[in-house]
Amino acid sequence: MSDGRETSLPLPKFVEWSIFPFEGDLRVRQPKPLYPTDRPRTGEPGGGPCPACAAADDEYIWVDKHWRVSAARPSGVPVQLFLETREHLDMDDLDDELAGELGQMTVRLDRAIQAIGGIGRVHVARWGDGGSHFHMWFYGRPRGAGQMLGFCLPMWAQILPPTPDELWQANMAVVATELAKVSGTAIASP
Ligand SMILES: [Zn+2]
Repeated sequence: MSDGRETSLPLPKFVEWSIFPFEGDLRVRQPKPLYPTDRPRTGEPGGGPCPACAAADDEYIWVDKHWRVSAARPSGVPVQLFLETREHLDMDDLDDELAGELGQMTVRLDRAIQAIGGIGRVHVARWGDGGSHFHMWFYGRPRGAGQMLGFCLPMWAQILPPTPDELWQANMAVVATELAKVSGTAIASP
């Protein structure tokens, strides 16, 4: 009798790693054939309006002339943020000036997130598959969280109970204040 499992791909090694959040009887989903093209993202024809373009500055924790930083809630890590361009641009639309600023903003956010204390590493990701408005993900991994290393942190951030509101707000205020020491306006306050 077949249960279809012989058509599945073998499980990768990482399912046995301690950082992988799941255990038990796992199997690989059967990969589907490619669609002719990607599905439309928000801000693209057929993908609905762009939420970033509709958002006012007071919905962010920090803003300046070219960039805005928002809190990505709920999250089980102490800090989770989006860095966005103010203008509706995708990553490959950035000119040399904005591309240079992106590098500076990435390093500034790394330092600002570490300033809350107790952060082991700041993780940075750009997927861009859901929204067409440029946004980069930042996660503050708790120091000593040896089970949340590397690519599993975004999963743990959705699995763990959300960081309590008061602590979250205090952490946002630290990040915003640190960023505002260089440029822009801190919106988040303790
Ligand atoms: Zn937009």
